[in-house]
Amino acid sequence: MIVILKKNAQPQQVELFDAWLHNMGLETHKSIGANHTIIGLVGDTSRVDMESILALDIVEAVRRIQEPYKNANRKFHEEDTVITLSNGAKIGGGHFMVMAGPCSVETEEQIISVARSVKAAGATVLRGGAFKPRTSPYAFQGLQGEGIKLLLEAKAETGLPIVTEIMDAKHLPLFEDVDIIQVGARNMQNFELLRELGRTDKTILLKRGLANTIKELLMSAEYICAGGNEKIILCERGIRTYETATRNTLDLSAVPVLHEITHLPVVIDPSHATGNSAYVPSMAVAAAACGADGIMIEVHNDPMHALCDGAQSLTPAQFDTLAKKIFAVREVAMS
Ligand code: PEP
Ligand code: MN
Repeated sequence: MIVILKKNAQPQQVELFDAWLHNMGLETHKSIGANHTIIGLVGDTSRVDMESILALDIVEAVRRIQEPYKNANRKFHEEDTVITLSNGAKIGGGHFMVMAGPCSVETEEQIISVARSVKAAGATVLRGGAFKPRTSPYAFQGLQGEGIKLLLEAKAETGLPIVTEIMDAKHLPLFEDVDIIQVGARNMQNFELLRELGRTDKTILLKRGLANTIKELLMSAEYICAGGNEKIILCERGIRTYETATRNTLDLSAVPVLHEITHLPVVIDPSHATGNSAYVPSMAVAAAACGADGIMIEVHNDPMHALCDGAQSLTPAQFDTLAKKIFAVREVAMS
């Protein structure tokens, strides 16, 4: 349920109203927009009498929200969420963010050289996996804690904030200086992990599961919001369909759909979506054209010898060419 307040509502009256709602066992979420202040109610609102709320002086309108996601719902929060990182880079509300780097952190030289190249090409965030969710337990699992140390070195060297995946909440202390914590596709519905992340103040990059709907993605975001953390970036990275020509099928329509129903920023990952470096540029450009708030691309200094996902990784030179196109297309798309 949302309560839209009148423009002239006095702060003391709003506070009293808020306290009254809390007394009824409801959580409230206040969103102050350019046009309205909206109070979103979370909890069992079935016994809330809409008529008596509407009768209050400060209330303009009351509406029930049908969707099961509340905090992530645009009806709760009309304006786009804008997230700002340590280097000043922003995402959401018209700000575009390019994240790039290798699938996995492999060596100090590798991560620092890739970080330097992607920064020179215009990326504002460095990606790199330290904990890798691999299909086979015998495949390279990532450098783990050591990988995070190397990412932090690359951050100190280049000033680029870093994004890296968490697989278990027990590793959270290692993520203290990580700017964006990624929840990978395979963990999108690891609800305990989502709850833990909801209790942090970290920016979370939440990837859509391999076979999950947009609604399920938003329900996972809701788990994080419910703990009080709304710094969430949603990521479409391809879903599993009957098509086998690409690693997954990139659902670009998720961008306009999500923009309509949520205030959270949306990033496209064309690398995991296609699984093939030959297809990454066209899908990356398409993502910029359809209004994505950001893009995440795998870049490796030597894709042929990458320990993970080499086939979908661009070389720094390919990324440099692509980044120019992405920025140009983004400008046209937003004009
Ligand atoms: C990754 O970003 O390297 C990764 C494993 O992504 P996903 O969870 O989308 O497969
Ligand atoms: Mn990868």
